[in-house]
Amino acid sequence: MISNKKYVSQFALMGTIISITLFENRPQVVFAIFRYLQRVEHQFSANNQQSELMQINQNAGHQPVMVSATVFNLIKYAVRFSRQHSNSFNIAVGPLVKLWHVGFADQHVPKDIEIKKRLQLVDINAIKLNETKKTIYLEYPGMELDLGAIAKGYFADQIGELLRDFKIKDAIIDLGGNVVTFGINRLVDNKLWQIGIQDPQQSRGVILGRVQSSACSAVTSGIGERNFNINGRFYHHIISPQTGYPLENDVTQVTIFSKSSLQGELLSTIAFFAGSVEGLQLIEAKKDAAAVFVTRTGEIKTTNNLDFEAIV
Ligand code: AMP
Ligand code: MG
Repeated sequence: MISNKKYVSQFALMGTIISITLFENRPQVVFAIFRYLQRVEHQFSANNQQSELMQINQNAGHQPVMVSATVFNLIKYAVRFSRQHSNSFNIAVGPLVKLWHVGFADQHVPKDIEIKKRLQLVDINAIKLNETKKTIYLEYPGMELDLGAIAKGYFADQIGELLRDFKIKDAIIDLGGNVVTFGINRLVDNKLWQIGIQDPQQSRGVILGRVQSSACSAVTSGIGERNFNINGRFYHHIISPQTGYPLENDVTQVTIFSKSSLQGELLSTIAFFAGSVEGLQLIEAKKDAAAVFVTRTGEIKTTNNLDFEAIV
């Protein structure tokens, strides 16, 4: 029975805390989501040597790898998008992400010559997809696909499908910062959802403002968490496929509100690269997306179609 009571379930998976909020006591739905995420983690994990993604990477320059339809289709989609935005969003950026390894114990500033070498491997045209055989082949040894920028958004959209199959209308899915709301918020009179925007200068959970919205996805690309300082210089995990170095511009964080969470992931990366001025225009021009930018000087900039309330 649907109620005005919320049922929150949390579990640790994919290196984060997943939180599912329903308005009915439906443990079987939570379990189905858990099983789904376990399955895709096995397919897509960058840490598990057995995952389909790792099999593709390990066979770079060696042989094509047959993958599941799920993995094939997401990579196909990501490759198409990377072709259009190869100077910003580029899933072939894996060798550079691994080289810097920002956020891991061995993070470091690599030698310039190493960076130049790896840049040669960031070649979207050397990813060969065979639709009939469902195989993926990376032509050069050392090439690596990195789905870190989009995987969670894709999973969140798929969980949306799962909720529909179970006839669940109202819910919040939080995949550790990637939030999607469904249906209406039964706990407030105006039925809208309130989504907090993380303050990039503060620890996780401290917000700098709130967005009020009907059902939508909210995904963030930011450099407030995975970063390090050496010799007075700041380095982070979003790598420019043009230079091989962490991107330097005026943005610290951008949150995209959109219907599809996968779309939000793609837009948050390209909006991040575009910078707050052009990025704002880029999102403003889309009728089905909205954005909150936080700049390196701490300024908050939002698109016009957004109900944003800053916390002062
Ligand atoms: P997100 O938190 O969704 O913005 O994704 C950040 C992650 O995307 C990084 O940790 C890398 O795994 C990956 N990544 C870094 N640079 C790029 C890039 N230029 N294009 C695509 N993915 C990237
Ligand atoms: Mg992303």
